[in-house]
Amino acid sequence: MSKKHGKHHRGHKRDDGMTGEADLHGPTVDHRPSTARWAGSVDAVAESVPAALGQHGPVPIRPAPGIVAVEPGAPVDLGTVDPDDVGGLDKDWAKDALATERERIVALQERLYAERARSLLLVFQAIDTGGKDGTIRSVLKGVNPQGCAVASFKVPSSEELDHDFLWRYHARVPGRGMIGVFNRSHYEDVLVVRVKGLVPDAVWQSRYGRINDFERLLVESGTTVLKFFLHISKAEQKKRLEARIADPEKHWKFDPADLVERKSWDAYQQAFADALGRCSTARAPWLVVPANHKWFRNYVIARTVADTLEAMDPRFPEAAKGIADLTVPD
Ligand code: ADP
Repeated sequence: MSKKHGKHHRGHKRDDGMTGEADLHGPTVDHRPSTARWAGSVDAVAESVPAALGQHGPVPIRPAPGIVAVEPGAPVDLGTVDPDDVGGLDKDWAKDALATERERIVALQERLYAERARSLLLVFQAIDTGGKDGTIRSVLKGVNPQGCAVASFKVPSSEELDHDFLWRYHARVPGRGMIGVFNRSHYEDVLVVRVKGLVPDAVWQSRYGRINDFERLLVESGTTVLKFFLHISKAEQKKRLEARIADPEKHWKFDPADLVERKSWDAYQQAFADALGRCSTARAPWLVVPANHKWFRNYVIARTVADTLEAMDPRFPEAAKGIADLTVPD
């Protein structure tokens, strides 16, 4: 089933495990940023959570139109999502809209930082050349670096391998007031590890449940978790690899091993589909982003981050009483 023509509507349950988002070509979709006009939807988190969150409940995730949220508990077929989809949007319009979303993110991040009660974790996963670096650079442009920490996860060190698989990820989750970004993540341990057969099958298979428990712990501790899968086509990967080979300034980004990895394209797609299907939860759903077009990818992700921060509704702490009447001595 293709979502090319936006036939699936908000909250509409599909037989492929995806929640179809609003009809991107119809007149009812409004891309203006507004609290009142939430885009797509995963059912709001309904379950109650322990008192750890205090007055703040878990935050409903609001994916922008064009992003496909994976329905919890259903199998996923990535072939049903068109990586070329741009939701009927115009490139110039989206560039202006991206600037607006960035302003919202910057303003809301300042409040999150000042409030110092909760945090936001952005998880990015993609096949090689999928655009993780470019997305992070674009979406977080202008954000106060003090309130944001990016963790990039590479081949584990021997010290990391001496611990349980979640150890190195848990150490980098954002503290109160922070936006944390995972460039690759704990999902590598059911992706590359599975495709390359780095551990016995039973070991990676047992990890989906542990990942769900880990994310549940984070959410119940006040961290909102947004997980983006950047979905590109095999043809687009070829174009990007060729561009890296052709441009001397991009050689540093090119790893000949990427050509070897490309041979495992189908195995990676299957591993991604299983990870998305088994680890999409009401608290932390997987969001599939059509990512062949960078301008569309950047806009819909920025929009989702801004809307989610707005839903968190971070507040500046109350000022000390009488502060406005104070005078500064000479
Ligand atoms: P990136 O591609 O993210 O820009 P690199 O080119 O340095 O960064 O690649 C990082 C490599 O680390 C990738 O090949 C990835 O598969 C690998 N990697 C990440 N996490 C793990 C893990 N848990 N086990 C094995 N390999 C991993």
